[in-house]
Amino acid sequence: MKNLLDGIEEVLLMGPGPSCVPDEVYKALAKPTLGHMDYYFIEIMDETKSMLQDLMQTKNPLTLAISATGSAGMEAAFVNLVEPGDPVLICINGVFGTRMADIATRLGADVDTIEFKWGTPVIPGNVKEKLSKKKYSVVAVVHAETSTGVKNPVREIGDIVKEHGALYIVDAVTSLGGIPVEVDNWKIDVLYSGTQKCLSCPPGLSPITFSGKAIKKIQNRKNKVPNWYLDMNMIMQYWGGKKRVYHHTAPINMLYGLYQSLFLFFQEGRDTVYKRHQETHEMLVEGLEKLGLKMLVEPSHRLPMLNSVIVPEKIDEAEVRSTLRKKYKIEIGAGLGPLAGKIWRIGLMGHTARKNNVKRLLDALSEIIK
Ligand SMILES: *Cc1c(COP(=O)(O)O)cnc(C)c1O
Repeated sequence: MKNLLDGIEEVLLMGPGPSCVPDEVYKALAKPTLGHMDYYFIEIMDETKSMLQDLMQTKNPLTLAISATGSAGMEAAFVNLVEPGDPVLICINGVFGTRMADIATRLGADVDTIEFKWGTPVIPGNVKEKLSKKKYSVVAVVHAETSTGVKNPVREIGDIVKEHGALYIVDAVTSLGGIPVEVDNWKIDVLYSGTQKCLSCPPGLSPITFSGKAIKKIQNRKNKVPNWYLDMNMIMQYWGGKKRVYHHTAPINMLYGLYQSLFLFFQEGRDTVYKRHQETHEMLVEGLEKLGLKMLVEPSHRLPMLNSVIVPEKIDEAEVRSTLRKKYKIEIGAGLGPLAGKIWRIGLMGHTARKNNVKRLLDALSEIIK
């Protein structure tokens, strides 16, 4: 019998996620599976929680990993904080802001959006003006808009949202582990992420944190959380307290992987990891510009881990990606929505953000474009 898995080859993952997985994480995934109520596994959960708090710069006790990908983190944030009729403001400058608005709308919220051109950042002053006209219970923004490569001013918006009195939801799926994220200082009430971007773990978990104010809202809801699997009232009894209560079986081995990737992050050191992302980003941009290519985003709003490159007019962008994958075994991403066919998205996330990888891609691109 033919086993398709035998045909999997190593691909250099330089797209918008998943990113390259270090050997230590693969080894962690292959450790013996323990029971989900096992005392030693609970110890691993507690230490994972504590490393996540450190990574997110928060003291929030309700910090854990949702058992599904980043989109489930997004869903968990909204489904727990939003009730039908709640006025919610979503900042949109890309795919993931649009997805937030979709989720909030499905929950029956009174959703307003404030939109900015894709490839440009959210402007805090405009958010402030919007908030002066109507009272919102939740404001949400994406920190690192992976569809465009733009970094949004989460700290500045946080000050404005705090003054207004709304709960503040931030998507840090792509930013966490690649650039600083400071939940408490930036006055964030719910922040969620994913494992397969800068944390360099395979996809499958969504780290998330809830402030005391967010928990109060959850505990004082008029209606039950309309989604059983993501109901924090129940999940917090498995992830905290002396006596753990079973809710669903934790993805044990995935959590080993997350533990290991957090361990690697702190072993290398926060500042060193952020510097590595910035330096490889600068090397990539310099190399692309030497090839005559231009970046989509202005330098001051660029993300180091997601680089949007404008495809020159005479080049078939899909063919370049296909050659990169098949001949050079490198994956890069395509544009989404209004940017489909117009940009490439080059990821330098986590373990992928290494100078030898940047060189390999630049050499390949230069051969193909010639
Ligand atoms: C990737 C991503 C998501 C969705 O995460 P999945 O793991 O694909 O479910 C959400 N927000 C942003 C900003 C992302 O980059």
